[in-house]
Amino acid sequence: MNKLRKNISSITLIAFLITALFGFSGCANGGTTNDKTGDTVQTQGDSKNESNAPEGDSNSVTNPASANGSTGVKGELKVHFIDVGQADSILIQQGDKAMVVDAGNNDDGNLVKDYLQKQGIKNVDYLIGTHPHEDHIGGLDYVINSFKVGKLYMPKVASNTKTFTDVVNAAKNKGLSFTAPKPGESFKLGEATVTILSPNGSSYEDLNNYSIVVKVAFGNTSFLLTGDAEDVPEKEIIAKGFDVSSTVLKVGHHGSNSSTTSEFLNKVNPKYAVISVGKDNTYGHPKQNILDRLKGKGTPVYRTDESGTIVATSDGNAVTFNTKPGTYNGFGNSTGSSDKSSYEEKEDNAVASSQQQNTPAPSVKEESSVTTPASVSSSSNRTVYWTPNGKSYHYDKNCSTLSRSKTINEGALSSSPKADPCDKCVK
Ligand SMILES: [Zn+2]
Ligand SMILES: [Zn+2]
Repeated sequence: MNKLRKNISSITLIAFLITALFGFSGCANGGTTNDKTGDTVQTQGDSKNESNAPEGDSNSVTNPASANGSTGVKGELKVHFIDVGQADSILIQQGDKAMVVDAGNNDDGNLVKDYLQKQGIKNVDYLIGTHPHEDHIGGLDYVINSFKVGKLYMPKVASNTKTFTDVVNAAKNKGLSFTAPKPGESFKLGEATVTILSPNGSSYEDLNNYSIVVKVAFGNTSFLLTGDAEDVPEKEIIAKGFDVSSTVLKVGHHGSNSSTTSEFLNKVNPKYAVISVGKDNTYGHPKQNILDRLKGKGTPVYRTDESGTIVATSDGNAVTFNTKPGTYNGFGNSTGSSDKSSYEEKEDNAVASSQQQNTPAPSVKEESSVTTPASVSSSSNRTVYWTPNGKSYHYDKNCSTLSRSKTINEGALSSSPKADPCDKCVK
């Protein structure tokens, strides 16, 4: 609680900023919600997946102007699970519409921006920051600054980290308000339908459980994107009666055993699973028992740590991938039954949040301050690490956010050109 008091002024500031941002949501640019699907341009230029695509409905005649067989949709839906190491970033494209769910760690900002630009993205019609952990919203400010963003969804919870205030400020500077997710609400992304399934609660102990969970449906196929939602929201989603059955499941929380309960997995009953996870990450993700659970169901698993960026393409009938399925090799004892591992605690401590009572506005209870005078002044001579393109400095050379960097510079904190402390290893 002492820590809380020390940081009360910054919390107040953040709470104020958030309240202001959510408060303006009525003024949000709503122009993107009414998609003119009639004049959607179908880009068939990248057709390398088409030859692999199973023939959906052999009785139907397909031509560019007609719907794909009996699916009622035209063209294709592309879902890119961008390789951002131990983090999440997903681009969803339908026609000329685009949605981005999370944007990797702080040091992934440029990578995500470059990837989107390579896909020809200029407008991000919908941007979702699933929850305020750095490995999800780290690069979000880059996306906000680099593209025209239509609508920005964030859960109603704040975090007292530089990463989070960067997002708040970037949104504010662009006149972009936060839209709070309402479970059951859906919107169109071209001919795809995006439905929000979570969060259904407003006071979770763990920041992960505030994760915005969405189901993206396109014709007879669908994708369930779960952020870091754990067992608690999984239960709530089922209890609410939402139809979670999906063709592709983005496995929750990087394959941690705090997510993907058997009950939930059986309801989703995915044909394919994707895990966004970093090689040799310090959390021990993905967990062996989760991979065993998927293997037991005969579900092929695609992993960014083994395959890099994974692109799934749906024609409305079937989903094809740009790569082969990965292995079922995970971490930990396959017979282990613990639902929470010590690895998860690390992440939670990094940006723990909590709830003020009964306030509808975003709540902040506890936080790991990375900028207290004590920690800064006493450590100006300590050795820190940074990458040329990253914006953070790190105490730990083996910080998971640096795991993919070729060049890591080293020097005294006072001489580091980077101003932002890493949310993960600078505490
Ligand atoms: Zn995460
Ligand atoms: Zn998280």
